Amino acid sequence: MYDHRKLGRELGLFDTDPLIGAGLPYWLPAGAIVRHTLEEYVRAIERRAGYQHVYSPVMGKRELYELSGHWAHYRDDMFPPMDLGGEQVVLRPSLCPHHAVIYRTHAHSYRELPLRIAELGGMHRAELSGVLGGLTRVRAIQLNDAHVFCTPEQVADEAAAALGLIRQAYAALGIRPVRYRLSLPGPGGKYVDEPEVWRQAPALLVDVLERSGVPYEAVDGEAAFYGPKIDVQIAGSAGREATLSTVQVDFYQPKQFDLHYIGPDGAKHRPVMVHRSIIGSVERAVAHLIELYGGAFPAWLAPTQLAVLPISDAELPHADALLKGTELRVEIIGPERGSLGARVRDTRLVPYVAVIGAREAADDHVALRLRDGRRLDPMPAAEALRRIGTFVDMHSLALWD
Ligand SMILES: [Zn+2]
Repeated sequence: MYDHRKLGRELGLFDTDPLIGAGLPYWLPAGAIVRHTLEEYVRAIERRAGYQHVYSPVMGKRELYELSGHWAHYRDDMFPPMDLGGEQVVLRPSLCPHHAVIYRTHAHSYRELPLRIAELGGMHRAELSGVLGGLTRVRAIQLNDAHVFCTPEQVADEAAAALGLIRQAYAALGIRPVRYRLSLPGPGGKYVDEPEVWRQAPALLVDVLERSGVPYEAVDGEAAFYGPKIDVQIAGSAGREATLSTVQVDFYQPKQFDLHYIGPDGAKHRPVMVHRSIIGSVERAVAHLIELYGGAFPAWLAPTQLAVLPISDAELPHADALLKGTELRVEIIGPERGSLGARVRDTRLVPYVAVIGAREAADDHVALRLRDGRRLDPMPAAEALRRIGTFVDMHSLALWD
């Protein structure tokens, strides 16, 4: 069983420092590559699914969160407000209020809906210091978030499509959910007092789950304050369950922000907001991937995709020439880093290792060793790079045929 905190430090992925503060990890170069690659993958599948990306600030005036309902229902999890020139500003606990305001930027016709606004944006949670650790419990969070503004008739299709995106991403990442959870309100929780919301929205999500054919369990007490949600649950290496991805239906915030669209009848109508996250927070997603793979990431995510090991200094120029123009993340590890055996051991987490001896250099060939132990016959170097590139571009979990 792997501990992402230990591996994060050993593999140079991320770390924390008491001077920066607990729950505020920073990303080291190798970890930043994994994170950036993951973020770009998510943005690409979102673009293909019709989402438009925006940026919005990580803070806002207290009044924004009073309007969204966060101040009344979620304040215990928020950082205290900062007094600034007679106003109070707070670090945001979610991106929804900003996206609701972005929707209001101009008038919308029903023809523009569904309008899908996405952002990989920062938010903050005032976690108690006792629970902080690694990347799973942090105070500064980068959330893969999106809000779909749609007509009531479109909600079920949009929520189902969001669930489909989650399943597509999990297939590329090799993540297996432990269960799908229909999160409903429970006694003692802080929820908006809107009986109609709590009657309509759960029925919609049940319909989505039934249509998608995934088994699920209904659990009381896990809803958001503004509505029920579908949570996709994963298990960490210690077996503890956590929510990674989520799809939520919200009739409340559109009303609070007085959002509307002009319908075919020429009158104003209220849109519904579908909140959804494909991989949840980048921190939790990467923590899970580190533990899932023990640092041996799928080739498309790996910080180093190909390690080139020239047997002696004589093959170094050839190794350099070989890599001209490749977009793969390659590291040349020369004889100054030790014997060939030691260098092979040092690169055990790298998906592809190319050993270049005198004969390979003369023939312009490479002999590939795969991380899973397979050794391939020498092949032309250009062909090896092209084949590896194909597996990377496909987000393949397999290293070779
Ligand atoms: Zn939201």
